[in-house]
Amino acid sequence: MAFESLSDKLQNVFKNLRGKGRLSEADVKASLKEVKMALLEADVSFKVVKQFIKSVEERAIGADVMNSLTPGQQVVKIVHEELISLMGSETTELKLKNPSDVTVLMMMGLQGAGKTTTAAKLAGKLKSKGRKVLLVACDVYRPAAIKQLQVNGEKQGVEVFTMGENQKPVNIAKGAYEYARKNNFNVVILDTAGRLHVDEDMMEELQQIKENLHVDQALLTVDAMTGQDAVNVATVFNDKIGIDGVILTKLDGDTRGGAALSVKAVTGKPILYIGMGEKLSDLEQFYPDRMASRILG
Ligand code: GDP
Repeated sequence: MAFESLSDKLQNVFKNLRGKGRLSEADVKASLKEVKMALLEADVSFKVVKQFIKSVEERAIGADVMNSLTPGQQVVKIVHEELISLMGSETTELKLKNPSDVTVLMMMGLQGAGKTTTAAKLAGKLKSKGRKVLLVACDVYRPAAIKQLQVNGEKQGVEVFTMGENQKPVNIAKGAYEYARKNNFNVVILDTAGRLHVDEDMMEELQQIKENLHVDQALLTVDAMTGQDAVNVATVFNDKIGIDGVILTKLDGDTRGGAALSVKAVTGKPILYIGMGEKLSDLEQFYPDRMASRILG
């Protein structure tokens, strides 16, 4: 389970803190040093950890905390609150247009991040909210991708639009948009092609789609297991294409969890959903407060 090791370590620090009746500044600093180590080991980005510890320390080493009856509890509360704030404080909802209009969602991500699976998961979620969703196979490079989308679309009861492998992704996207308008779909989810690494061709293709279609939300799928790399990938996509939100996959695995804590702070873009398994129902809304509670145990 994600965060297991981080949770264990933080709980240890907190046990010590809570056990003390009075706290000195040195006690707080020593505890925060342990928190810092635990976060770094969980793969939270260095800059983010530094800023986080600074914010906690500024609030913790004040007379009202130090002189309170339960200083340890207060420090723990501050860590909790700062963790929530790090992840964006509020839950960010996916923005959809009025159902009478077509909302275009563009899924992006590196190969293997879970993009195609997530597109189908999201399609199911939106369908259950009463939307008429069209999944679009724009990944023309990985022959299995179209088939995979079709299989998953069928499982979700969602139509899949494809023009085979011999068309340019931007033309497929345009064709799908026209088809959606004519047939009263109100959400179009473009499953674009990933690559093993960030490369120029992929970026150009995504840019082309963005230039030729009105993309309402560009959603980046990143794999939580890849830790700091996930955050680096998010930064590059945000700089080059512009992202509106992140979907963090594979948080059910034994990831150290750092990506969940760094993405918002580093890119400024919110995590919208988390992938919690391979099943098509394993997509959850991201709640910063629930995640903080999960981490702190
Ligand atoms: P794509 O190349 O980005 O389109 O990736 P796929 O959608 O093909 O997913 C790659 C692998 O990751 C597949 O085996 C998926 O079942 C798996 N996967 C996707 N999301 C999750 C998740 O949230 N948790 C787990 N455990 N596996 C996932």
